[in-house]
Amino acid sequence: MTFDSSPIAAIATAPGRGGIGVVRISGKNLAPVIRAVCGRDSLAPRHATYLPFLNEDGSAIDQGLAIHFPGPHSYTGEDVLELQGHGGPVVMQMLLARCVQAGAEIGLRLAEPGEFTQRAFLNDKIDLAQAEAVADLIEATTEAAAKSASESLSGAFSKVIHELVDQVTRLRMLVEATLDFPEEEIDFLKQSDARGQLATIRSTLEDVFRHAAQGALLRDGLNAVLAGKPNVGKSSLLNVLAGSDVAIVTPIAGTTRDKVTQTIQIEGMPLNIIDTAGIREAGADGSGPDEVERIGIERTWAEVAKADVILHMLDADRGPTLEDENITARFPEGVPIIRIWNKIDRSGHKPAVDQMPDATHVYLSAAEGQGVELLRGELLRIAGWQQTVESRYLARERHLLALKAADEHLAQAAAHAALDNEAGEHALDLFAEELRLAQERLSSITGKFTPDDLLGVIFSRFCIGK
Ligand code: GDP
Repeated sequence: MTFDSSPIAAIATAPGRGGIGVVRISGKNLAPVIRAVCGRDSLAPRHATYLPFLNEDGSAIDQGLAIHFPGPHSYTGEDVLELQGHGGPVVMQMLLARCVQAGAEIGLRLAEPGEFTQRAFLNDKIDLAQAEAVADLIEATTEAAAKSASESLSGAFSKVIHELVDQVTRLRMLVEATLDFPEEEIDFLKQSDARGQLATIRSTLEDVFRHAAQGALLRDGLNAVLAGKPNVGKSSLLNVLAGSDVAIVTPIAGTTRDKVTQTIQIEGMPLNIIDTAGIREAGADGSGPDEVERIGIERTWAEVAKADVILHMLDADRGPTLEDENITARFPEGVPIIRIWNKIDRSGHKPAVDQMPDATHVYLSAAEGQGVELLRGELLRIAGWQQTVESRYLARERHLLALKAADEHLAQAAAHAALDNEAGEHALDLFAEELRLAQERLSSITGKFTPDDLLGVIFSRFCIGK
């Protein structure tokens, strides 16, 4: 990530019409813009001043409030100027263009996505996990997700990570001090209870991971892919779960030609249900999928490959067929499968399950609604959703991976400690090295030791003006 520190400007409010629109500017010294656009030599810090926003010829573009936040007491840590005008797209564009023109002498340019928050991070106003929480708060689609993002933004997640890093650092310092006195090395592990300390750190980390994993689920939802033969009732089930007619239901095979995604909530857990094209092959009589349907079926397999859980639907009335078994054979390994036997209103019996023992089985009728509650329960169980977790950090996949990697290094450290004990070998330097690596992985969550290209990716996903 190359950092260009020239002043930046953007419309900070959402595009479209609104009562108020805000142009935000950040830079080291914004006096020339304040003079030109606000017609003042200075503005009282952090006070709203009502004034006309001036064109080059002295005419007014709009009237509104100007607020100057002199650095470092601002969002970005630099000088920030906010101009609150009327929220129309044209007037906002005019005001933005005028600011860029007035700021030409200080090199003012349009901001890239996330650049304000990036500066806040680079100027130590917030850490990386908090910066990510800004984007997550803006993008939150449920109240629970917004609440968790807000908690992360206030630093709750960063705090537990810092505490973990501190614990690892303290243990590492202890070990490294011992390394300088090799004759004492043998007794070190016993006397300092390094193993006990390591075990405590690992159990704390496990706890953080559990909360973070719940938060990640809250942020991204569980991806459940409905897959099966045509006409088994996939679209009908999606509609029942969603409680509205989002997918087209017909008795003609091959109706759902592309995926339909619907996000619902089960006890607060977001569930992304992905309905896919029914899977079938060409029949002996030449019947079968046409070109469009074949593409749809390929997409079904692409969705299945990305699923957190596969909802394999079958017709309970007909029982399992060779086609169902062929479909099962293509499911990826390691992904949980719920085998859903639909249309029990017709079958009146449960098909033998021992033919397909690799999955959880649910019997239901999408048409009449029986058994749908059981399916909801199974989905919650598979996700490990705990409705009452007191604090969730709106964690991202990146955070979970870092926590997992840190734990692996701590496990290695524990293994070296054990080796030292049994064989009397000097594994302490390896023990210290694993602690250092764990510490680095944990610190990458809050932004220390985070590679520049990763930082670039994180901030580029923000919207402009944030
Ligand atoms: P899809 O091709 O797998 O998406 O299947 P659809 O949802 O389009 O349903 C195919 C046909 O089966 C439709 O005529 C539905 O009305 C019918 N159907 C779906 N679920 C049930 C059920 O639980 N019981 C009965 N009797 N019919 C169902």
